Amino acid sequence: MSETRYDTIISARWIITVEQDNEVLENYALAIKDGRIAAIIPAAQAASLSCDKRLDLGNHVLMPGLINLHGHSAMTLLRGMADDKALMDWLNNHIWPAEGKHVRDDFVFDGSRLAMAEMIRGGTTTINDMYFYHGAMARAGIASGMRTFVGCSILEFPTNYGNNADDYIRKGMDERRAFLGEDLITFTLAPHAPYTVSDDTFRKVVTLAEQEDMLIHCHIHETADEVAGSVKEHHQRPMARLKQLGLLSPRLIAAHMVHLNDEEVELAARHGVSVAHNPASNMKLASGIAPVQKLLAAGVAVGIGTDGAASNNKLDMMAETRLAALLAKVGTLDPTAVPAATAIRMATLNGARALGIADKVGSIKEGKDADLIAIDLSALETAPAFDPVSHVVYAAGREQVSHVWVKGKALLAERRLTTLDEQELKASGESWRNRILAK
Ligand SMILES: [Zn+2]
Repeated sequence: MSETRYDTIISARWIITVEQDNEVLENYALAIKDGRIAAIIPAAQAASLSCDKRLDLGNHVLMPGLINLHGHSAMTLLRGMADDKALMDWLNNHIWPAEGKHVRDDFVFDGSRLAMAEMIRGGTTTINDMYFYHGAMARAGIASGMRTFVGCSILEFPTNYGNNADDYIRKGMDERRAFLGEDLITFTLAPHAPYTVSDDTFRKVVTLAEQEDMLIHCHIHETADEVAGSVKEHHQRPMARLKQLGLLSPRLIAAHMVHLNDEEVELAARHGVSVAHNPASNMKLASGIAPVQKLLAAGVAVGIGTDGAASNNKLDMMAETRLAALLAKVGTLDPTAVPAATAIRMATLNGARALGIADKVGSIKEGKDADLIAIDLSALETAPAFDPVSHVVYAAGREQVSHVWVKGKALLAERRLTTLDEQELKASGESWRNRILAK
């Protein structure tokens, strides 16, 4: 019998598996073969195994890659352009005019790659996105090597990209066809929000999602105004309306879900709806505090997202995970709400559950894809290290992410991007700034 030869063997002082809360393997190694985690073994035993590449990371944590469950990558090019505004002022007077002038294929390709470079450097391996020019987003995903969910935005009103809901749907489905063979690229249907999408369109989305076996990604119950507006226009709250339209199902990833009553928490749980919690965006736009604790207790898969860089303004999943833990505590006045292990689970396995890929990623388990990150805890800022689970959430920063792999392929090594060009992306960001500022 010939001995198995592995592609890479990575050993580290700590491995956070996320299989069980607070499960930490000390001085273990992961053997990677054909993009998968082939074996999890004590580091001492791994020394005798044969492999093409061996990486001993010392005082690092190895853990599953972070899953950004809600974003608008291309909006990174509008980062910091207008802040500290009310939502409708921000949209009507700043964001939408700039998007109207500039959002095209090249804007989305450049902005998405810039976002992905930032996300990779911060330990994110999967992005669930929602924007326009999906072909450009998918090409950016392929260029970066990230696991990319391309959300086809659907609205009733025209933008540069489409004229009406049917046009958005048709364009999204056309662009999807070109990427069906791409393993790491998945298209989703993304009706923007209950206040921008009609009953008719929601029904079409549900039918199409079932026919084509697609996920649905939608902003829901983000602000108190949205809920009040729906009561005025439809005589019911958005969740009740969406239930009637057949939208509530395990296919649905509901972004935000800030203003929910107990009945709506129960409704989400009963229908298997997943939630993308965006603490920084909810704080910055003063939307409110999502009842994360209640949703989790009801069994809802609550993942974490950054939202777009224009409303955050960082695509920093480690910061977002820390905020999710802190905001849950201040929101409930309960310091035991969302402990560190739960926050890590939200940022990894819950995101994978929401995206229907928990059998492939989200935790460290033999047979799963090697979507992994390494975080260096040898820094002064994380000394001493009693508990790596606590440190990852409360003390470490994204600048301590040293390595990132997706399906066994390194996207970041010793903090250097391997698939994207940092200098080129910085120059491109600067050139877009000049174009946006030019009248
Ligand atoms: Zn959003």
